[in-house]
Amino acid sequence: MFKNLKKEDLEITNIIQKEIERQQNGLVMIPSENYASKAVLEAMGTPLSNKYAEGYPHKRYYTGNQFIDEIEDIAIDRAKKLFSAEHANVQPNAGSGANLAVYMATLKPGDTIMGLKLDQGGHLTHGHKVNVSGILYNFIQYGVSKDTELIDMDEVRELALKEKPKMIVTGATAYPRVFNFEAFKKITDEIGAILFADISHFVGLCISGDHPQPFPYADIVMSTTHKTLRGPRSAFILCKESYAKAIDKAIFPGTQGGPMEHIIAAKAVCFKEAGTKKFIEYGHQIVKNAKALAQALMSEGLRLISGGTDNHLMLIDCVPLKITGRQGSEALANCEIYTNRNTIPYDPGSAFEPSGIRLGTPALTTRGMKEKEMEIIGKAIACVLKNINNSDTLRNTQKLVKELTKEYPIYQELDF
Ligand SMILES: *Cc1c(COP(=O)(O)O)cnc(C)c1O
Repeated sequence: MFKNLKKEDLEITNIIQKEIERQQNGLVMIPSENYASKAVLEAMGTPLSNKYAEGYPHKRYYTGNQFIDEIEDIAIDRAKKLFSAEHANVQPNAGSGANLAVYMATLKPGDTIMGLKLDQGGHLTHGHKVNVSGILYNFIQYGVSKDTELIDMDEVRELALKEKPKMIVTGATAYPRVFNFEAFKKITDEIGAILFADISHFVGLCISGDHPQPFPYADIVMSTTHKTLRGPRSAFILCKESYAKAIDKAIFPGTQGGPMEHIIAAKAVCFKEAGTKKFIEYGHQIVKNAKALAQALMSEGLRLISGGTDNHLMLIDCVPLKITGRQGSEALANCEIYTNRNTIPYDPGSAFEPSGIRLGTPALTTRGMKEKEMEIIGKAIACVLKNINNSDTLRNTQKLVKELTKEYPIYQELDF
C-alpha cells in the first residue's frame, strides 16, 4: 500500500508505520477516537483530493465536477436517510468550524447563546472564552448539579427564562449520560429559541438507538464523523429545511472554500456502513461495554462522575486516589492504555492539571472486545491508578495489554 510513499519519502513512511503499530499495540480508550474501516481509509487516499469543487452539487464554480457531484449527492442522501433529516451539508471540514458556521448562519455577533460549561463536559466551541465562539457571542453557560453531577432541566429552564438566549446548544464531550432533546425543545419553544444539538460524541449511539435521536426536536444538528461514527476526520450539519439556505451559505462561502471531496467520499462510505445491522449491534455493544467497564472500575473502589455511565464514556475522579488526572493518564499511557486527563464538575484542580480521567469504549468495541475484556481492563486500570509508581504493576499491565491487543487485532490486514 505504501509502495510509492516508501520510494519517495522513507522518513515519513517509517513514522506512519510506527503510529499504525502504536494504534494496534495499545488500548485506545480516548472516547473521541476510533478505528476507521479500511474502506473509509482507502476512499480518503484518492485523487478526488485533486479537484476544486467550490459551491454545491450541480452549482459549482469550476468545470469537471460531474463525478464529484455524484459522490456528494450520495453522501447527502445517505446522511439525510440515516437521521431522517430534511437537509444535510456534508462539506464541513471539522466539528469546530461547523459549529462556527451554525452560529454564523443563525445569529449576529453579540447575541446570547446557552451552552454546557466546558469544565463540566461542554466543548470549546460551546462558548469558551478562548474560543472564537466565546469571543463573538454572549455565551451563558449551564452546568450540572453538584450533588447528582447531572444536567438539571429545571435549572436550564430557569436560566433560559432569565437570559432569553436566541439559541441553546446541547451535546458535550465529557458527559456520561444522555441528552433529553425533548425536554430542551420544550424550553426553546417557551422562549422562541433555536435548539442546536451537537451530537459529535454520541452520534453512533443516536443511530443504534442507544441515545435519543435529535430529530424532530432539534432545529440544527452538527456531528463529527471520526468519533463513534467511525468515519474520516471530518463533520457534517443537518437541519430543518427552513435553515438549509443559511447553513449552506455559512459553510460556503461563509467559512470554507473548496470542499475536501476525498473526505466527502469517505463520509459517504461511513454513512453506508452506519446504515447496516452490524453498526446497530456495534452501538449496542459500545454501551454494554461502557457499563461493564464502569462496573469493574467501581467494584475496585473508584469513583465515577455521576456514579456510572449511560453512553460510551466515563470520568474517573482522581481526587480520592490522591493523584492528578495527568499523573493517572500518563501512568496508563506507560502501559499503552490511552485515556485523557479531563476536568470534572466543580474540579478542585485547573484546566491544565484537572482531577479527572476520561475514557470510553468505542475503539475497543471496534476491535471486537466485549464485557469480559472490559472487566479485565477495568481491574487493570484501577490497579495502575492505585499504584502509579509500582514497577511490578506497570510490567504486569504491559504484558496484559500485549496479550489483549494480540487477541483482538486491528489493521493487521492492511498491507503496509
Ligand atoms: C469533537 C467535538 C467537536 C469538534 O470537532 P473537531 O473536528 O475536533 O473540530 C465539537 N463539538 C463536540 C461536542 C465535540 O465532541
